[in-house]
Amino acid sequence: MAESGGVEKRGKPVLVMGGGIAGMTAAIESAEAGCDVVLVEKGPYLGGRVARMNQYFPKLCPPTCGLEINFQRLKKNPGIEVLTLAEVEKLSGSPGAYEATVKIAPRFVTDACTLCGACEQACPAERTNDFDYGLSKTKAIYLPFKMAYPAKYVIERTACPEGCKACQDACTYNAIELSEKARTITVEASAVVAATGWRPYDAAKIDNLGFGRCANVITNVMMERFAAPDGPTKGSIVRPSDSKAPASAAFVQCAGSRDENHLPYCSAVCCSASLKQATYLRAQYPEMPITIYYIDIRTPGRLEDFYQKVAEEQKIRLVKGKVAKVEEDAATKDLLVTFEDVLAGKKVAEKVGLLVLATGIVPNTEGLPEGFKKDDFGFLARKGAKGGFIAAGCVSRPEEVSATVQDGTGAALKALQSVVRSAHHG
Ligand SMILES: Cc1cc2nc3c(=O)[nH]c(=O)nc-3n(C[C@H](O)[C@H](O)[C@H](O)COP(=O)(O)OP(=O)(O)OC[C@H]3O[C@@H](n4cnc5c(N)ncnc54)[C@H](O)[C@@H]3O)c2cc1C
Repeated sequence: MAESGGVEKRGKPVLVMGGGIAGMTAAIESAEAGCDVVLVEKGPYLGGRVARMNQYFPKLCPPTCGLEINFQRLKKNPGIEVLTLAEVEKLSGSPGAYEATVKIAPRFVTDACTLCGACEQACPAERTNDFDYGLSKTKAIYLPFKMAYPAKYVIERTACPEGCKACQDACTYNAIELSEKARTITVEASAVVAATGWRPYDAAKIDNLGFGRCANVITNVMMERFAAPDGPTKGSIVRPSDSKAPASAAFVQCAGSRDENHLPYCSAVCCSASLKQATYLRAQYPEMPITIYYIDIRTPGRLEDFYQKVAEEQKIRLVKGKVAKVEEDAATKDLLVTFEDVLAGKKVAEKVGLLVLATGIVPNTEGLPEGFKKDDFGFLARKGAKGGFIAAGCVSRPEEVSATVQDGTGAALKALQSVVRSAHHG
């Protein structure tokens, strides 16, 4: 490919669906090997769920550095076309010669945006902030997060008052186009990578654990936002009921996972995620009792060291036992957690100030083209998909970031093989 030069002779581009860490990696690695890439991301920014984390295990560093390196590699590579607010509506063709119909929703803000923020100040309307899992609000015109890529505001038009153009009037750069319409384009591709990631299991479906019923029961993804300096509480981990420090905190592992009534599989990252989140609590509350109720602690490979270190150094109480019931004290909003202490062989009920449900990972497979096969658990299967159809990241199995990056790199190699075949035969 290197000696072939021009775009035509390099074969058709690689189409990557999903701009999380897996999709970005697949796109960057393919492009750095010489392919053209079209990266289609449903949301208004790249980075996926990782952008919403406070810190990464096992290093406990903020995700911003890892993301920034990827954004720089993307920006520098003219071979990658990034389409945000975009989804593949239709896909036809065969390996080496696919044709995708991509629908791009309007952002209403153009490249002339300088991030001055005057529009946001002028905007009179609010929307629920999905970046914070509904724990905060933004203006109807908003920047998804501080280092969002692309670095551009976006408008949620359904939140705008009828006829309002306050943002347009406030913008001195003419960067707002309230009449922008959705458009549809056709993309030809030799290979298609699905890296559409995951979403948290709906905790409200686990009746006995109290989410939605008890104010101080939150989920692990919400905990990431509470702990984040740019989150709804500016990093202070407090009880939702009274915004006060909890007297104690606990984690319920396998909240939905490894349960035939919910997700029959292990979500692989929740044990490490709770251990990591225990360090967030410990940093703010040096003496607070922190408990993790678990069935088995699953921290494979090098994550075992992380588990041992955190459990020892952070004075975490680990209790082997499944939580059966969570009730709320109507007056104090404290929680009464009933569980079976397996090692002590008895049923116990204890008071907890803040309870975090370690909810599992559900693959985002809705609306994907038919050539992708699913496994028994609904994840995209790695084998048996049509040639040229490649799955990477958490849409194909629950995994941590480093494994996701390896997956994205592997997907790029598979895609390259299709591109080379298409260049030779097409
Ligand atoms: C509570 C919790 C904490 C975690 N903490 C850590 C940690 O500290 N360290 C670690 O290594 N791992 C951690 N993980 C795991 C980590 O979140 C995943 O490994 C990572 O998000 C996987 O990236 P991904 O690209 O596969 O998916 P995602 O991050 O979900 O990205 C998928 C992207 O695809 C987009 N998309 C979805 N559908 C479509 C579509 N139809 N078309 C186009 N785009 C689409 C989404 O908008 C998103 O941008 C944690 C997981 C949980 C549950």
